[in-house]
Amino acid sequence: MKIVAAKKILKANDQIAEENRAKFNAAGVFAVNVVGSPGSGKTTLLEALFAQLKGRLRPAVIEGDIAGVIDAQRIEALGVPVVQISTQGACHLDALVVAAAADGLDYDSIDLLFIENVGNLVCTAGFDLGEHLRIVVLSTSEGDDKVVKYPAIFQGSQALFITKTDLLPHTNFDPQRITADMKRLAPDAEIFQVAALSGEGIPQAADWLAGKVKR
Ligand code: MG
Ligand code: ZN
Repeated sequence: MKIVAAKKILKANDQIAEENRAKFNAAGVFAVNVVGSPGSGKTTLLEALFAQLKGRLRPAVIEGDIAGVIDAQRIEALGVPVVQISTQGACHLDALVVAAAADGLDYDSIDLLFIENVGNLVCTAGFDLGEHLRIVVLSTSEGDDKVVKYPAIFQGSQALFITKTDLLPHTNFDPQRITADMKRLAPDAEIFQVAALSGEGIPQAADWLAGKVKR
């Protein structure tokens, strides 16, 4: 019997992630890993950010999905370069598939790369993809207990985007509770409240992101 320890697999992932980061650095590309549940509004957030960042930064996207190209088509429709990863059942991205997808990018024409992870608050937390920044997306319809219930994904993220704030009057979601829980787990993380469809909160988020890229 052969047993491969999960720790070893993660170590191999970390090495490839470092190679990805080195490649991104050499090309002057700032990479952002976008994580969150299915339906939390990751793609809609990207669409809203692109509208704000137009003319300031040149974005591209690596889309991770179990099946289909629905999100990639939405990104492409905005004229943003996109590479689709079809994970064929895998519930998260790892550094190796991101390395393969990144080979399909024209580094000369981009400076900000979003890697939209598979919708999942659990195992996406364990895989460094070679990004410079990880942002976690949580919508108001998912409940304000998620930071406590899924600590790893929040603890390792540098920003929390609370999305769909326009739905707040119809939910019992308490932004103060989630903010307090996030501050306890990740004191340095930025917290944004946005309604991507109406654009509320998006300019501030875009400015923050642009500042990160310039640095
Ligand atoms: Mg999506
Ligand atoms: Zn997984």
